[in-house]
Amino acid sequence: MAVPPHVAVVAFPFSSHAAVLLSFARALAAAAPAGTTLSFLTTAESIAQLQKGARLPGNLRFVEIADGVSSGGAVLPPPRRMELFLAAAEAGGIRDGLEAARASAGGAAVSCVVGDAFVWVAADAASAAGAPWVPVWTAAPCALLAHLRTDALRQDVGDHAASRGDELLTAHPGLGGYRVRDLSDGVVSGDFNHVINRLLYRMAKRLPQSATAVALNTFPGLDPPDLAAALSAELPNCLPLGPYHLLPAAAAAAADSPDEAPAAEEASDPHGCLAWLDRHPPRSVAYVSFGTVASPRQDELRELAAGLEASGAPFLWSLREDAWPLLPPGFLRLPAGLVVPWAPQVGVLRHASTGAFVTHAGWASVLEGLSNGVPMACRPFFGDQTMNARSVARVCGFGSAFEGPMTSAGVAEAVGSLLRGEEGERMRARAKELQAMVGAAFRPGGGCRENFDRFVKIVCGCL
Ligand code: UDP
Repeated sequence: MAVPPHVAVVAFPFSSHAAVLLSFARALAAAAPAGTTLSFLTTAESIAQLQKGARLPGNLRFVEIADGVSSGGAVLPPPRRMELFLAAAEAGGIRDGLEAARASAGGAAVSCVVGDAFVWVAADAASAAGAPWVPVWTAAPCALLAHLRTDALRQDVGDHAASRGDELLTAHPGLGGYRVRDLSDGVVSGDFNHVINRLLYRMAKRLPQSATAVALNTFPGLDPPDLAAALSAELPNCLPLGPYHLLPAAAAAAADSPDEAPAAEEASDPHGCLAWLDRHPPRSVAYVSFGTVASPRQDELRELAAGLEASGAPFLWSLREDAWPLLPPGFLRLPAGLVVPWAPQVGVLRHASTGAFVTHAGWASVLEGLSNGVPMACRPFFGDQTMNARSVARVCGFGSAFEGPMTSAGVAEAVGSLLRGEEGERMRARAKELQAMVGAAFRPGGGCRENFDRFVKIVCGCL
């Protein structure tokens, strides 16, 4: 009898990455053939965070890997902790993790290494273990293409990123809708030595050589055809099978195991966001969130606050509590608003009362808004957010983007337009169109369902 698969899933334990990958792993756990074991490799701190969510399915377990921090890690700035983690991963941390996974699975060797593409060093550990490496790209496909094309883009733009910022990248197939200034940090400008930028540069060299297949957090039809074609030309088995947050429920429904289905849906709502939304008319509320890392400076925060008040719209704002003292006096008591430290974002965006999303354009947030048909106003801060905002506003057309810091007038204008304007109506129609495409892609026979089935077969050795 064939040995059942043992799939190791390697997380990048920073920002929202590990949570997204865990959601992906839950889907794999529901869809994998009977007898499959999944080991989710991440650091102790990340395990502690993830354990606050819904319980794991029976065939998925956490396995701790080294964080590279000897002591006092909590006080180190995130870039330093990333450096230490990556150095430890490269120096044998992933290899040791695979060994620990084997031991905790009763000696069953790891048969495939799936993982966040950021932890590209897992390719070496996989190869040493004689297992295929199947990376999962959690950000947008346009950003991945820009990383794969970094050398060509640097050659083209040279030292003129600032003066050529408004030029469209028409010489680069798949990127013609983006301007030089939209490119992610570290591609043609920014600090090439920043830990994330070095990581992405090396990852892009490695993916085409070592990946067996690459999961993409998108669905057929979202990206321009030349972008999808350019990625497929660079990478083996590109599989668009997102938005990833929809995978667990889809996989559980397909496997007819409703027990596992609600994991992503169960996000708790201790601040009563959904009940507050229930008290508002359909499509009347602006939801504001800048994800898990980005945070506007005080002057911009106050402009945003003033703009929300001036828009006249009810607003729900997820804002870390340490920023609340920076808000204008009395703002937290405005009857039109609810400010919370954390919101069940997917549930909020799915709620009928939510009509507009003011976002930093993190890719998970963009997909969560789009798959609920909510148009958005993007204020990108760093990393790939500039490319994502351009995708929303110009390439795909279901929102708008602030060019630079938000002003009170700009916020009032953007929110008013999304909730009540003609332009907003057009953006909502486009968001609804994309929402319908997502729905079709996840139905039996749809593109994402088929690609996910193919992904499962690849990682479980059935292809
Ligand atoms: N999120 C949430 N509640 C909040 C703020 C954020 O559930 O109050 C989740 C959101 O649904 C998304 C993730 O955090 O899944 C943020 O990911 P994204 O890629 O948008 O941004 P990042 O945090 O990586 O910058």
